Amino acid sequence: MSEKKEKHDKNEEVEEQEEQPEEIVIEREPPQGSTDEEKQYWLRRLPIRQGCFDSPIDLNLVNCIPISLPKLEWVNFDAIPKKTKLTNSGHTIIFSAKWLGERPYIYAGPFTAKYVFSNFHLHWGENAQEGSEHTVDGGNFPAELHVVFFKSSYLTQEAALKEQDGCATLAYLIQLQEMENPGFQVIIDSLRDIAIAGTSKRIANVCVLRLFRKFLDDYYLYWGSVSTYSCLHFILWLVTRKPIGISNEQLNCLRNILDHQGSQLVKNFRKVQPLCDRSVFLVNPCPSKYATLLPITHDTYLQYHVSEVFYYKDIGAISKLLKEFLEDTQSISQYSETNELTEKSVDSDEDETQNEYSCDN
Ligand SMILES: [Zn+2]
Repeated sequence: MSEKKEKHDKNEEVEEQEEQPEEIVIEREPPQGSTDEEKQYWLRRLPIRQGCFDSPIDLNLVNCIPISLPKLEWVNFDAIPKKTKLTNSGHTIIFSAKWLGERPYIYAGPFTAKYVFSNFHLHWGENAQEGSEHTVDGGNFPAELHVVFFKSSYLTQEAALKEQDGCATLAYLIQLQEMENPGFQVIIDSLRDIAIAGTSKRIANVCVLRLFRKFLDDYYLYWGSVSTYSCLHFILWLVTRKPIGISNEQLNCLRNILDHQGSQLVKNFRKVQPLCDRSVFLVNPCPSKYATLLPITHDTYLQYHVSEVFYYKDIGAISKLLKEFLEDTQSISQYSETNELTEKSVDSDEDETQNEYSCDN
């Protein structure tokens, strides 16, 4: 072999080596044929492979990866709390509660452990053209409700926030509807008493499912994060495809509460963040693939109150409720007063929710 040819071959070898950089393969979906357990494990490790990015994001049906997972299970949600509190944190309105027995929790779906209810809070804007954190096909909704859960084995939300699999948030986009949402009225009626930032009020002990609905399937799933002071925390987001409705009058009441500067809190939503290389999944989607969100289901008086007494299997209460509804539509306000409590701030040692995501760093 001539010296020239040998040199050429060596160069080729070098070139071949240079052409083999380590390829970074971003897995966008679980391998075909994975079991439910394998998919749950794969989902749990996703932020380590794809990176941690901030929330919220724009939701678009076209970008989503359909995935099948076990149905989400909801346990103890029909239990009435022993103590319920509404807090004006200066940034939002936070609903928190204590139960005599085990707190409500969710499991299955993407989860391999129990995630207990921590609180729910709201985001809204100055007018009906803004307010939601997530956008849908680039468009805003007037408000959004976030239900925060943490993994029960971490015992507290503060401890759970430090873990990659510690917290999950269920998000509901809120649309305007003509009629009042009766489930929300217990919140709306108390807002005047917590107008000042940092104040709390005990409110009627109501089943939390009067305020948000269960969903088992058909939700967007992605890994995001929330920032608290100097911390960045992983959060698994589940955004239901079914929005909930409130009236414009109810939404206006939220805009009357005050922030820490004493100004009306009219804008408490974050900007949409880039998706980057993240995967967004649509879990067990319904057959309708024409719209990113499904049409609103109107939240009516009967839907809430009949479902609530059904929890107690109290047929007498159901027939009484139907009679009341037919005879007198004013019974909505009467019902909300049956559990009236004295107005007082809950002791500070019980106050877990001055911030919707608290952080002790
Ligand atoms: Zn939130």
